[in-house]
Amino acid sequence: MGRNNQGHVGFIGLGTMGREMARNLIEAGFTVRVFDVLPNAVAELVALGAEPATGPADAARNADVAITMLPDTPQVEEVVLGPGGLLADPPRGRLVVDMSTISPVAARRMADELKAAGIDMIDAPVSGGPVGAKNGTLSIMAGGDAEAFARATPFFEAMGATINHVGGPGSGQAVKLCNQLICGINIQAICEAIALGRAFGVDLDQMRGVLLGGSAASWMLDKLGPSMITGDASAGFRIDLMLKDLRLVQEQALALSVPLPATALVTSQYVEARAHGEGTNGNQALFRVYDRMANQPRHPGNG
Ligand code: NAD
Repeated sequence: MGRNNQGHVGFIGLGTMGREMARNLIEAGFTVRVFDVLPNAVAELVALGAEPATGPADAARNADVAITMLPDTPQVEEVVLGPGGLLADPPRGRLVVDMSTISPVAARRMADELKAAGIDMIDAPVSGGPVGAKNGTLSIMAGGDAEAFARATPFFEAMGATINHVGGPGSGQAVKLCNQLICGINIQAICEAIALGRAFGVDLDQMRGVLLGGSAASWMLDKLGPSMITGDASAGFRIDLMLKDLRLVQEQALALSVPLPATALVTSQYVEARAHGEGTNGNQALFRVYDRMANQPRHPGNG
């Protein structure tokens, strides 16, 4: 990642992921103008060298690219299409890149609407979590025109290590939903292995190490396994956000008539977790559902 990049970025949404991604853009040498509805989030980035903006349109003023990293579809639609948003009085040729995880259908609809106004839009959701965002090693899956993807690439390179153009508008979101489906079911599989291993009385740390050396190895077992074993439910990728993504998966599956029984089951288990007040816990806290089913509550932890 070069530190002498030229170019202006408007960055909107400075939460768990966005703040790290904006920081990496600053460190790569870009001029970054930031906005978030939370003034503290803006102040934190200004202290790192960003310029403060008063709203989305102001953040995107003179920008080569406007990047959004927001919770869900309604927030992205508001920031892109709403009053004072990125569609208000746009200079032609502007590029909008949404890196949030939202509905692929909404992403495609927005891209069409912006295209009619002379603006290119790329949907470029990410995988890799807060650690990947911090280290600039995210996997970025982008949907949109090839030419617009090429223009966005130098900015992506400041935030990610695996950068792929996966098709036309909405394709990035479609691939991301497939990613989330695998993540959810994989966490569920690890919960079941830990529940059974614990009942057998095996050393769970050792079991994890052994499994990581074989065909059951996975990112989830590697990165989240330790907290699942120790009973640490604290934050990471929040259960609320996982449920949002699984809802998007289910909506698409229904619309396309694709049966996804395993996704339906794990979604119900996440609903159960949220009903127990764990929406703000990390998604590894699915282990609590298994603890409850086995009537083996562990450390109180968060939530
Ligand atoms: P977050 O809730 O921590 O951050 C979202 C930010 O957007 C907040 O600072 C909020 O104040 C701001 N915001 C909300 N509405 C706004 C508006 N109208 N205008 C300006 N700012 C607004 O969420 P996050 O964890 O950073 O995730 C962002 C997106 O990335 C989500 O779609 C999530 O699914 C996805 N994602 C998250 C992770 C993760 O591990 N946290 C990993 C991959 C993808």
